[in-house]
Amino acid sequence: MAGTAYQKSPVGSLFYDFFGGNTLKADVSISVTELGSLLDHTGPHLEAEEYIARTFGAEQSYMVTNGTSTSNKIVGMYASPAGSTVLIDRNCHKSLAHLLLMSDVVTIYLTPSRNAYGILGGIPQRQFSRESIAEKVAATAKASWPVHAVITNSTYDGLLYNTQYIKQTLAVQSIHFDSAWVPYTNFHPIYRGKSGMSGERTHDKVIFETQSTHKLLAAFSQASATHIKGDYDERTFNEAYMMHTTTSPHYGIVASIEMAAAMVRGKPGRRLIQRSIERALHFRKEVYRLRQESEGWFFDIWQPEIIEDAVCWPVEPGAPWHGFRDADAGHMYLDPIKVTILTPGMDEAGEMAPEGIPASLVAKFLDERGVVVEKTGPYNLLFLFSIGIDKTKAMSLLRGLTEFKRAYDLNLRVRNMLPDLYAEDPDFYRHMRIQDLAQDIHQLIRQHHLPQLMLNAFAVLPEMKMTPYAAFQQQVRGNVETIALSQMVGRISANMLLPYPPGVPVVMPGEMITERSRTVLDFLLMLCSIGQHYPGFETDIHGAELTDDGQYRVRVLKETASRQTA
Ligand SMILES: *Cc1c(COP(=O)(O)O)cnc(C)c1O
Repeated sequence: MAGTAYQKSPVGSLFYDFFGGNTLKADVSISVTELGSLLDHTGPHLEAEEYIARTFGAEQSYMVTNGTSTSNKIVGMYASPAGSTVLIDRNCHKSLAHLLLMSDVVTIYLTPSRNAYGILGGIPQRQFSRESIAEKVAATAKASWPVHAVITNSTYDGLLYNTQYIKQTLAVQSIHFDSAWVPYTNFHPIYRGKSGMSGERTHDKVIFETQSTHKLLAAFSQASATHIKGDYDERTFNEAYMMHTTTSPHYGIVASIEMAAAMVRGKPGRRLIQRSIERALHFRKEVYRLRQESEGWFFDIWQPEIIEDAVCWPVEPGAPWHGFRDADAGHMYLDPIKVTILTPGMDEAGEMAPEGIPASLVAKFLDERGVVVEKTGPYNLLFLFSIGIDKTKAMSLLRGLTEFKRAYDLNLRVRNMLPDLYAEDPDFYRHMRIQDLAQDIHQLIRQHHLPQLMLNAFAVLPEMKMTPYAAFQQQVRGNVETIALSQMVGRISANMLLPYPPGVPVVMPGEMITERSRTVLDFLLMLCSIGQHYPGFETDIHGAELTDDGQYRVRVLKETASRQTA
């Protein structure tokens, strides 16, 4: 009704005025027949999907109105029948963990490498080979040859795969690239050969690519697209699509996906992406220059020595900058627009310096100045130079970094430098100065060998006792209980546990931490202990609950349930 109802109420009128008449006028009902149907792919909706497919280099595209979280489930439901085996990137988004809770499949993990900073290096080439898969199939209960694979491309930290190699090598019927973070790869030549839709059809294989249009292009939240290249059953796919799609989609979201496509098409699109690459390069060089000119310390950037050209930089074997011990040649590439800033305290080999500045302090400082940090590691911070980053925003980040250095070198009081942190516990922070806080946290990290602990935590996976699906069925039957995180050894986890950072699941539903994989728990407890010592530095562990007394609690299956299913 174009917002008429709102205008009949005082508080409703405030809402109407804030969002504006057009927003409400455009929120039309699905019964407006001229617009066709999102679910049946007719009329202007069909035209939009065809336009999007042409724009993104796909054969078919689907507009999805509940984020890539939903795109991922749709593709997964379609591509992996119950009882089949699927290959899943251990570095997967939680929507894929949810897929595994809904779909009764056997999972085999592809495990990415990582460096001391906690940056993921991608799945090593060998894991895509027949031999490697055969070994894993033989070692996994009830597994058969996998039918489908899911790979996160790019990784959170901005590493893109040579997708051509994976498409040719990986012997499965369909490959799904979860490209939530890189909806722009089709619009600039530096990304050629590094995305799901790049290149020709792959013989005998269907390629899926899911993208969060809203993340790095201009679109409303929830806007997502699923692109397909290869032969698939449209009607079956659409059942999976409708299973997850509301019958009342928000037209504004749908329209924004098509608009995003219109913006990045052709030469104007290329210029848009080119500008964000240039902005990121300029920023990288500025930080480098400030580092050369500054007295004492300054921030560094995780990048090769030479960054003259606008390219995706290869993670070459043996190159000193990246810190991956067994990098494969021609396999992974760093996207210049994903900028990782390094703080002092640790080198790429994981060697801890006597003094350091944990990145969480810098993140808090920037946050208090309105600069959004995408991800914070122990000694690194990630920033995304999307097309929405203008010169002013890039400058305010640079200014934030130089102001941090000045305040840090002056050894200001926490109270003056980080007032929001101070407010969390004035008694605790009353007399503390910034350098003392930094050194105390640094020493805590050093004593506990955090970088090594993190590497070890991911080196041995917890034991898979049952499928995530079976674990969830136990959960809905009520066969779960809540225990302290520290008591987890020998118990089957009901949930996915995912600490930020590094934002990768350490425990999946149905898995058990055993004595062999105990470092997983040690790592989680180490993260907790920083928060217990320093108010305001609590780690966010998805899947665990932080209680008022500072303890983390997790849900596990009751022991009776564990025996029944095992
Ligand atoms: C954000 C993200 C998703 C989910 O996308 P939404 O659009 O937020 O639902 C899926 N996969 C990856 C890798 C992501 O980073």
